[in-house]
Amino acid sequence: MPGPHPPLHLRVVWLPDDTVRDLYIDGDRLTTTDVPGAETVATSGYALPGLVDAHCHIGIRRGAVAIDSLDQARSLALTDRDTGVLAIRDAGSPYPYPELVGEDGIPRLIRAGQHVCASKRYLRGIGLECEPDEVVGALARQAKLGDGWVKLVGDWIDRTAGDLAPSFEPEVLASAIAAAHAEGAKVAVHTFSEEAVACVVEAGADSIEHGTGLSTGLLDRMAAQGTALVPTMVNIETFDDIAAGADVKFPVYADHMRRLKAGFPEVVRAACEAGVEVYLGTDAGGGIDHGLAAEEMRLLHQKAGMSPEQVLAAASWRARDWLGLPDDLGDVVVYEHDPRESLEAVREPNLIVLRGKIVAGRNPLRCARWSGRSRRGCISLTLAPSTP
Ligand SMILES: [Zn+2]
Repeated sequence: MPGPHPPLHLRVVWLPDDTVRDLYIDGDRLTTTDVPGAETVATSGYALPGLVDAHCHIGIRRGAVAIDSLDQARSLALTDRDTGVLAIRDAGSPYPYPELVGEDGIPRLIRAGQHVCASKRYLRGIGLECEPDEVVGALARQAKLGDGWVKLVGDWIDRTAGDLAPSFEPEVLASAIAAAHAEGAKVAVHTFSEEAVACVVEAGADSIEHGTGLSTGLLDRMAAQGTALVPTMVNIETFDDIAAGADVKFPVYADHMRRLKAGFPEVVRAACEAGVEVYLGTDAGGGIDHGLAAEEMRLLHQKAGMSPEQVLAAASWRARDWLGLPDDLGDVVVYEHDPRESLEAVREPNLIVLRGKIVAGRNPLRCARWSGRSRRGCISLTLAPSTP
C-alpha cells in the first residue's frame, strides 16, 4: 500500500555507507526496495538523513527571551529545518510545546523540558529556578514532561565569589541526575567550569553541554561510560564578548572565560581522540541565531580538527542513532557537491525531504545524469523562505 504522499525515488551517493543507492521514500519510510510508481526527484548528489542540532532551543528567541506562542516555536524550528536540520534535541525550553512533536513539516523533536538551575543563577526568565532542596524533585518532574531528556544547569557565575561555580553541591547534582534516571530520562548538563563538569561526569550525566572545563582524565571516563559531548563551538566563540562585558565587575570570571575559550578546541580534539561521542549543537536561541548548523560543522572541522567524514557522521546519522531515531524514517537531505570534499557544500541543500514530503528544494534539480527514469519526475521548487 502506498503511503499518504506520493512515493519518491532518489539515486544519490548515500553518505552513511558511501554507496550510490536507489532510495525510495514511501510515506514516512525509507527503503532501498523499489516502490512501484515512485516519482524520481533526484538523480545525482550526495545525501544523508538530515542534520541533527543536538543542542538547540526553539523555545528561546533572540535576546534570550522566552517565546510565548506555538507559532514562534514553529517559526524557529522551520528556520533550522530549511538549513537541512531534520532533528532537534531541544536542550531546555521555558515554553512547553508538546503539540509540535510529530507535526507535519516540523523537524523530529526530542525535548528536554525546562532547564533546572539555581536561583538567580541563569538567564533570567528561562530556567526553573530551584533551591538546593528542590532540585531533585524538579528534575524528576521535568523528566515526565520532555521526550526522554532533562536539562540541568551545572554551573554559572557565582556573583558573590566572582567566578564560575557549580550550581549546587556535588551530592545534590548527583542526586538530581539519579532522580531523572530513575524516571527513565537522560540528563544533559550545562557546564563551563572544571569543577562542575568533574562532578556531573562522576555522577553519570548522559551528555555534557559545552564542557569547556573538561580534562583528559574526565574524557577517558566519558568514553568508558558513554557520556557524550556537545561542544556548541558557535557558543564558545562568544566567550570573549561575555568576558569583555564582565571585566569591570568580575575580572576573575572574565579571565576564566577567556582561558576556557582559548583551550577549548584542544578539548574537543582530545575528546575525539579519547573516543568520546561528539555531536553537533549550535545552542541556537538566546544569543545565537537559529540556522547555524553548517557554521558549527565548519568549526568542528577547522578548529577541533575533526575530518569532514567525522563531522558529517556526528552531525547526522550517528546523532540520529544516539537520539533513538530509527534509520528507516523518510528524511533525506541532498547536496549537489560532495560535503566530504568541502563541508561548505552543506550550506546549500538541493532537496529536503521530511517525513516523506519534499519541504524545500533548489532548482533546477539535475535530472539528466540518470537516463533510467524520465525527466518528467523532476521537480523544481524555490527554497522555502526563512522565517523572520
Ligand atoms: Zn543551550
